[in-house]
Amino acid sequence: MERKWMKNIRKVVPYVPGEQPKGTDLIKLNTNENPYEPSPNVKRYLECDHKYRLYPDPTADVLVSQLATTYGLSKDQIFVGVGSDDVLAMAFMTFFQSEKPILFPDITYSFYDVWADLFRIPYEKQKVDEEFRLVKEDYYKENGGIIFPNPNAPTGILEPLEFIEDILKHNQESIVIVDEAYIDFGGQSALSLLKKYENLLVVQTFSKSRSLAGIRIGFAMGNPVLIKALNDVKYSFNSYTMNEASLIIGSEALKDQEYFEKTCNLIIETREEFVAEMKQLGFSMCPSKANFVFATHKEYDATEIFEAAKKEKIYFRHFNGERVKDYLRITIGTKEQMKQVISFFKNYMNKS
Ligand code: PMP
Repeated sequence: MERKWMKNIRKVVPYVPGEQPKGTDLIKLNTNENPYEPSPNVKRYLECDHKYRLYPDPTADVLVSQLATTYGLSKDQIFVGVGSDDVLAMAFMTFFQSEKPILFPDITYSFYDVWADLFRIPYEKQKVDEEFRLVKEDYYKENGGIIFPNPNAPTGILEPLEFIEDILKHNQESIVIVDEAYIDFGGQSALSLLKKYENLLVVQTFSKSRSLAGIRIGFAMGNPVLIKALNDVKYSFNSYTMNEASLIIGSEALKDQEYFEKTCNLIIETREEFVAEMKQLGFSMCPSKANFVFATHKEYDATEIFEAAKKEKIYFRHFNGERVKDYLRITIGTKEQMKQVISFFKNYMNKS
């Protein structure tokens, strides 16, 4: 029988998240999670009484207030969501309403074209150069909005503040979103440009630098006009995106700045040590300011290494795109885990 209703179904090619293998004795370096536990503040809260019977505060005030204090902003400059994926999806829906194409790099977070397709937003990908760097002049043309991560994913390459400001200067008529999922691992945030540019939205997450990927908290910082527009869309979609537990856990984690800095610095230190050892083994890597490195080796095939590592219960991320298929994205874990990764590589190279 012909299913006439099939034509009414939205057809999308979904984003493919990294594998979440089961088991405990794994070295899981495939989805850029933090290897350290969240701040002990979070645990203390989990042992208290909760008000799960009631709906959570739709304005997410406790979390928004703490974010305002932490980042020196006012509450009307902050929007929160269920991970930065939720915040970014809302931002695509809210800010990219033009008929002109939005612009983003061709090698970048692979969710951008999925959202653009889902919301029927026209887009044009801009080629990164030979060294995977964004080319700023490509973002001078007419557009319906701009988005890019800084540092970029999956390369880890950071652009300096002058680069971001240059893009903003050339794009006063559209909204520019800087996705700072990995900014806390050695980058300088574009937050300081908010005073000067009303069309800038900075998006960050608790998933990486605050070790809370499982709790799902993301946030956007920007001009109150942008934040109100985001909230209007959110309230037209689902008033209670943030659950009670995440509101409290997020605000408690923010209060522990010392722990946050300590764990970020540990990851930065581990990254630099790991990069030095990988170079000794003949790998080349993009200069990373994120909690992962993007590595390639002239003599060894990335897919084969990826499969061999998996057999040893070491998980990396591998992408099939033409320009990235020779690379592995390796999340920075604990020092001990990275040592095991280096021994795995040494063994692998001896055998092949
Ligand atoms: N932006 C970039 C560049 C990412 O790599 C990720 C992680 N997949 C996200 C946003 C979303 O992270 P989350 O939803 O956990 O905040």
